[in-house]
Amino acid sequence: MSSENILEVKNLTKHFKGPKKQIVHAVDDVSFSIGRGKTLGLVGESGCGKSTCARTVIRMYDVTAGQILLDGTDITKMKQQELKPFRKNMQMIFQDPYASLNARMTVRDIIAEPLVAHGLVKNKNEANDLVYPMLERVGLTREHAGRYAHEFSGGQRQRVGIARALVLKPELVICDEPISALDVSIQAQVINLLKDYQEEKGVSYLFIAHDLSMVRYVSDDVGVMYLGQLVEISEADEIYKKPLHPYTRGLLGSIPIANPKLARLKVKSSIEGDIPSPIDPPSGCRFHTRCPYAKPECAQSKPELKDVGGGHRVACHLY
Ligand code: SF4
Repeated sequence: MSSENILEVKNLTKHFKGPKKQIVHAVDDVSFSIGRGKTLGLVGESGCGKSTCARTVIRMYDVTAGQILLDGTDITKMKQQELKPFRKNMQMIFQDPYASLNARMTVRDIIAEPLVAHGLVKNKNEANDLVYPMLERVGLTREHAGRYAHEFSGGQRQRVGIARALVLKPELVICDEPISALDVSIQAQVINLLKDYQEEKGVSYLFIAHDLSMVRYVSDDVGVMYLGQLVEISEADEIYKKPLHPYTRGLLGSIPIANPKLARLKVKSSIEGDIPSPIDPPSGCRFHTRCPYAKPECAQSKPELKDVGGGHRVACHLY
């Protein structure tokens, strides 16, 4: 029986060893879930841990602590061989379509490779029967199949990367900044392609981005990460209309706040200072070194992620 959520992430933690054997707290105690056919947007500055979180979820990295359930099955500690059938069901679209595509393979072979690796096709003809319709589905043609990645524009290369991810018909696709490297004029086309495919097939996306406006457009829910932790998560419309965490509000800039009590807290249009090192993150609330509303308590105790109503959760001592 399939589970209600395609993905459940519970208290996920990923630490790396730094150059001098220090611990890099890339992801700390992050929990979220993604419903079937839904999109969770994960946002934050560069270095906030969102991409590491995505790559840990897809098990490109081993998990330090916590749990990952894919369609109800615990994949947290599976060895690579055990993971293989589950990998078919969760695929990734990368930020840089040029770096992620093998320059020596034709587009046809790039898209056919996962089909062959998972034993889903017996010969070239069977592969072509799946590759050609997928090329057309992403807005390319079968004439493109014999060409190499370097012969394409950035937008076309990303379409090849999307075709490669979707050809296995995964239920979950991790989109790791899939439009950041593309021209603005191309971004909307790629986003529309992903959205149309979702409506057609009911696929779920974990969509990593730093462009908040695009995340709003694609996401049902939005989570905001800061220095390895989830500081706010809610339905997308709610978080844009009523951002609560000072970091979220800084990311969003001057957005009118409906609640007069909250409106009294002046919204900063930008966040000052640099994100601290994840090797020795600040005590208490990790945002306290940059937060305009920090009080002594903030440096001492870590605010828990609390539901403030309607599933809107925020980790801040102001609430
Ligand atoms: Fe700012 Fe304190 Fe809230 Fe952290 S807990 S975001 S430092 S007010």
